[in-house]
Amino acid sequence: MSIVDIINKKRLGNELSYEELDYAFNSYYHEEIPDYQMSSLLMAICLKGMNDKEILDLTEIFINSGDKLDLSMIDGITVDKHSTGGVGDKTTLIVASIAASLGVKVPKMSGRGLGHTGGTIDKLESIPGFRVNLSEEEFINQLNTVGAAVISQTANLAPMDKKIYALRDVTGTVESIPLIAVSIMSKKIASGADKIVLDVKVGNGALLKNDKEAKEAERIMKMIGDHYNKQVEIMITYMDIPLGIAIGNSLEILEVIRILKNEENNYLVALSKALASKMVEIALGVDEIKSKKMVEESLNSGKAYEKFKEIIKAQGGDLDGIKVSTNTQEIYSNQSGKVVSMDAYSFGKLSLDLGGGRITKEDKIDNTVGIILNKKVGDEVEKGDLLCTLYLKEGASKIDTDVESFYKIK
Ligand code: URA
Repeated sequence: MSIVDIINKKRLGNELSYEELDYAFNSYYHEEIPDYQMSSLLMAICLKGMNDKEILDLTEIFINSGDKLDLSMIDGITVDKHSTGGVGDKTTLIVASIAASLGVKVPKMSGRGLGHTGGTIDKLESIPGFRVNLSEEEFINQLNTVGAAVISQTANLAPMDKKIYALRDVTGTVESIPLIAVSIMSKKIASGADKIVLDVKVGNGALLKNDKEAKEAERIMKMIGDHYNKQVEIMITYMDIPLGIAIGNSLEILEVIRILKNEENNYLVALSKALASKMVEIALGVDEIKSKKMVEESLNSGKAYEKFKEIIKAQGGDLDGIKVSTNTQEIYSNQSGKVVSMDAYSFGKLSLDLGGGRITKEDKIDNTVGIILNKKVGDEVEKGDLLCTLYLKEGASKIDTDVESFYKIK
């Protein structure tokens, strides 16, 4: 078999057989073909797509690249939650804390930042001491004792995805619906949860740009779930604006804490409650009204925040050690009016440029940088008002990007 023939076949829009996909992806995984040939194949897939058979085949190849986690040692129903990513998306940490505080078992394997979107694992690593790599035994123990654990994709669970994910990130091949679906579902199936709640984001700041793309992603992921006999619940949520007010790893953890202390009330909070309710509903078999009430109660009573602290402590994190840069730059408005929209993509990209994300897969992230959005969609603005605050690297000079233009004020 020749990798060049396989690339050409996909470039021309033809179906690849199981054997061809297996050969190409496994050869890359075992370092028998170089980055540039896999990049080329990924780009051909991006441009020509994959049919359902190819998607199921590639999912199986990804799953078979590693172990399948056996969660049968966990007492209770396990529910995994996954978001397709977006700017400022820190729902996992909020939702896992709420759901676990109500008795749902939440085994969570998360990813790192991808493109202009952040990743839960990078956010957690801004907490000094936090261990994102637990052994399987530690993971299962923590689920039985604490109820939730958030770990990085371990080397042996769908490890092929980790390698492909890193290459896609730096080759403009992130935004492919089949590749996104295979990436997410292979990890979800391999990580063994009984049920899966997927938050499929759509909009300018998300990997999927419109309803048509989101519907297609939903169809494909349910199709994969059905194939593996897993209940998959999908919520399509909007992501035209950054989620919450913080972008950047440390800033986002601090925002999670404020939300779990019930100090915020915005779209991010509403979304987190909706996702947590869905998890409670399918895990505990209660109806929607009851699950929503339980979620409110968990937040109001401080139970969710206590659970968050328990999770962080169990994984060695020290919340008091979180650092945010002291080098800030304030962006003021030159006009008066109402914020009618915000360019989530540009904010995500700006955070990346400030040092909060990766441009090449070897880049090191600066957890202390980011953005606080002092004004959000719907807010009234007077000329001279503070729109947002940039947290630059310590010692870095101010930037001259026209950040004000990311806001549409009318
Ligand atoms: N999240 C993932 O896990 N994989 C993708 O490809 C995109 C978002």
